[in-house]
Amino acid sequence: MAYDENNIFAKIIRGEIPCDKVYEDDHALAFRDINPQAPTHVLVIPKGPYVSSDDFTEKASDAEIAGLMRAVGKVARDLGTVADGYRMLSNHGRDAHQEVPHFHIHIFAGKNLGRMIKPVDS
Ligand code: 5GP
Repeated sequence: MAYDENNIFAKIIRGEIPCDKVYEDDHALAFRDINPQAPTHVLVIPKGPYVSSDDFTEKASDAEIAGLMRAVGKVARDLGTVADGYRMLSNHGRDAHQEVPHFHIHIFAGKNLGRMIKPVDS
């Protein structure tokens, strides 16, 4: 899947659409999700044009990958989520219901998040 330069997160990176920013460095941008699923729900995204975790882990440089993961850890610490816990999650593709085609890692925290996923009934 080719990267769509007009996806919503590309526009946020370019500053064409506002976001509630919590962190930014050379490789990553973190901002609050517009439709939070937990008291703390932040998205951490690479600044480079990667569609999903598959694209990112295949094509991004080691510096970009390290930068993104360092940013996830820093954001979780800065938001005070480490002591009680947080969940990081990334959706790739149809079955995972990825909505925005720019790689992003969700950070959820601020309440008991329950078990990871519901039992599969198929
Ligand atoms: P996905 O389903 O792709 O893993 O998650 C996409 C996330 O992006 C959703 O949680 C959705 O609420 C969030 N989102 C979609 N559009 C915007 C936006 O314009 N601004 C922000 N801050 N979050 C958005």
